[in-house]
Amino acid sequence: MTIQQNQIGSIQCISTDVLVVGAGLTGLTVAYWLTRQGHRVHVVERQSRVGGQIQTHRQGGYVFESGPTTGSVSTPEVAELMADLAETSAGRCLLETAPDTAKRRLIWKHGRFHALPSGPWGGLTTPLFSFSDKLRILTEPWRKKGMNPDETIAELTCRRLGHSFLDYAVDPFVSGVYAGNPHQLVTRHALPKLYRLEQEHGSFIRGAMAKARQPKEPRERLATKKVFSAKGGLETIPQSEAEYIGYEHISLGADSVTLMPEDGMWRTTFQMPDGMCREVLSRHVVTTSGAYTLPDLLPFIETTRLEPITRLVYAPIMEVAVGLSNRHQGDYLAFGGLVPTCERRDVLGVLFPSTCFSHRAPDGSALFSVFIGGVRHPEMLDKSDDEIVSLVKDTLHTMLGVPTDVKPDLIRIFRHEHAIPQYGADSDERVTAVERLESEFPGLILAGNLRDGIGMGHRMTQAMQIAGKINKSKI
Ligand SMILES: Cc1cc2nc3c(=O)[nH]c(=O)nc-3n(C[C@H](O)[C@H](O)[C@H](O)COP(=O)(O)OP(=O)(O)OC[C@H]3O[C@@H](n4cnc5c(N)ncnc54)[C@H](O)[C@@H]3O)c2cc1C
Repeated sequence: MTIQQNQIGSIQCISTDVLVVGAGLTGLTVAYWLTRQGHRVHVVERQSRVGGQIQTHRQGGYVFESGPTTGSVSTPEVAELMADLAETSAGRCLLETAPDTAKRRLIWKHGRFHALPSGPWGGLTTPLFSFSDKLRILTEPWRKKGMNPDETIAELTCRRLGHSFLDYAVDPFVSGVYAGNPHQLVTRHALPKLYRLEQEHGSFIRGAMAKARQPKEPRERLATKKVFSAKGGLETIPQSEAEYIGYEHISLGADSVTLMPEDGMWRTTFQMPDGMCREVLSRHVVTTSGAYTLPDLLPFIETTRLEPITRLVYAPIMEVAVGLSNRHQGDYLAFGGLVPTCERRDVLGVLFPSTCFSHRAPDGSALFSVFIGGVRHPEMLDKSDDEIVSLVKDTLHTMLGVPTDVKPDLIRIFRHEHAIPQYGADSDERVTAVERLESEFPGLILAGNLRDGIGMGHRMTQAMQIAGKINKSKI
């Protein structure tokens, strides 16, 4: 299908079915599935590139990410998107899943990394948890179900498993995934599957056993929970989506984007880098940019009505890619190592991407991703590059045993001011505000990570569901 374009003076007018704001994973995946279903789509993006938070870099034989490093095949939608992209990109975009080694997760305690136990014997012998909490876990199936729907992850963990599980399993997991604080994140919103396990089965252990026994539909079996990337780096996903959509249907470098409802349609206006103004007329508009971008995008909505959405807090994160030309006999056969808050170190964790995926480092070399900051230490993002380089070198030495005289081949620092949204106690208010606006302004969909989950798997799932909903509405 072609887009109708008219030129009126210096304004270029485009008519399409669906206008999508944001060419990150959510926006491009919505646009990709709609294009697959034969709809006319236009994507408008502020940056001059596609991918949003996803960006893959290449330097000196290293292939590294500055945003997400790995995803999880958490839902059938992830597997379906990757299988479809493999076809439409003629094999350019291929799913790569990590080997079993990546199931091994390390946790820092008292000066060294310990493997997080994966079975009952490891659970009994690990030095990570206290003896009383190990005994306590045996009685978890008989503990009373929680009654507070706004219970935080920390409260839930202490109530069911004990303090040492909070400190040495859940806290580092929350740092690794959310860069967040388990005392602020509400389980029902941040870890809804865990919340339902307790609510529906009365216990994590009983719930997990019941789930394992349940027969799975063939589509459900696609959700393998494996750690994934794409061959050659995550950026091939948005790039392949954009190529399929067609770059002529994507306005990159768009400035001052505003949406306006008009006679049952939507008029989106913005300025292109060459100074040309564009107007896009569409029946549907889907925003996928962060909550904080909505007041500028939707100037016709009073800011007080947007406030329950825009107050969403985003954790700032600094990610440092490090390449070492020699492995120095380090124990890197794992997904990576996470650092509990109570251990009081300046890094959240170190991932080992070259253990998980092929061709991320030259032969014999190793690639690391060091994460710093998060909601608990936003001030770390203000440190100078020199301070960060010395912190990273110290981390390599003290935590991974790299000799002090070894000079890394590669150190690249990336700062993200709005990295990961924190789903706290006000999440119900936010979702209600979104739903009210969507029903008051037909055709408007407020998507992206302001709701429905923070990871790439959540984004792919939400995008496929939105495309399905728009498709059903018979544009
Ligand atoms: C450092 C970091 C590490 C992460 N690690 C992981 C991980 O390991 N695993 C995982 O699953 N997830 C991870 N994530 C989360 C993951 O990156 C996101 O879930 C996903 O990439 C978000 O995609 P999105 O399209 O919703 O948002 P974005 O990628 O943010 O895309 C939104 C797009 O909207 C554009 N935009 C904003 N305002 C406007 C405007 N006014 N007009 C037009 N365009 C606009 C932006 O430029 C951007 O391109 C990480 C994120 C960060 C930052």
